[in-house]
Amino acid sequence: MVQPATHPCPQRVTHLYSTDEHHHQREWLSTTEKIVSEAEPLDIVFTAPHPDDLEIGMGGTIAKLVDQGYRVGMLHMTSGEPTPRGDLKTRATERDQAADVLGVAICHQLELTNRELMDGPAARYAVATFLRRHRPKILVGMAGRTPGASPDHYQAQLITEAARFYSQFTKWDDRFDGTSPHRIDHLVYRPVPVAAEITHYHTTFVVDITDTIQRKIKAVHCYKSQFDETRMARVEQYIRGNASADGSKAGFEYGETYALPRPLGTSNLINLLGDWKIPPPFDPQDPPPSP
Ligand SMILES: [Zn+2]
Repeated sequence: MVQPATHPCPQRVTHLYSTDEHHHQREWLSTTEKIVSEAEPLDIVFTAPHPDDLEIGMGGTIAKLVDQGYRVGMLHMTSGEPTPRGDLKTRATERDQAADVLGVAICHQLELTNRELMDGPAARYAVATFLRRHRPKILVGMAGRTPGASPDHYQAQLITEAARFYSQFTKWDDRFDGTSPHRIDHLVYRPVPVAAEITHYHTTFVVDITDTIQRKIKAVHCYKSQFDETRMARVEQYIRGNASADGSKAGFEYGETYALPRPLGTSNLINLLGDWKIPPPFDPQDPPPSP
């Protein structure tokens, strides 16, 4: 299921996402392996309970950040198995293929238990140890209760919040596999579109994924054990529909909405808003109305 570590990944600065390229550059780390790339931190880590959650929810932003040259990490908390149509080996292969499509520097899977994922010390230490090892500036996790789907999703939110706090703990390095404390600057939520409650966050923003939505969908397509043709068609409709709704609010064709647990701070309002272009709706492509 887990390939041995190879070598620290070089900084990704080019738009490369062929399968061979990423197999060569990406590391798979088992939970018991020791530090391999602490010297070169990740810029950002995305985490979710099951292989396919990240791709469905955040795949457009993950691919976009990779294209922009950032070192991106994906952390799956469980194997996602058992499922009705999957098995461990197949799901791991699909997970690997999806990470290749998105092009991340590191994709790692913890050995927490699918279907029984619960916030608690063991899960917090497992996620925090990964964060201390790879030292990202930003941590992104899904948010919201999903009573129509797995309860693991909401537990993963709680684990992510706690692990971000745990990662800065001093004096307890032995509880984190000997890694040093690391403070993560920012926690970012990816609210689930089908969450039970409508949550009002201090800040929401939309990432333009117009140029990466095809790769996001291609990554989800890797999970054939989860989505046969009929189910995949429905998932693709869900992805496109939500991405269109999210994107249109910010003037993009497709977007992914994220949230912050605090107001967004800036010391430079011009830089904050400077490169955000909002085209007039239905213009200028539409012909002018005839007199
Ligand atoms: Zn899931």
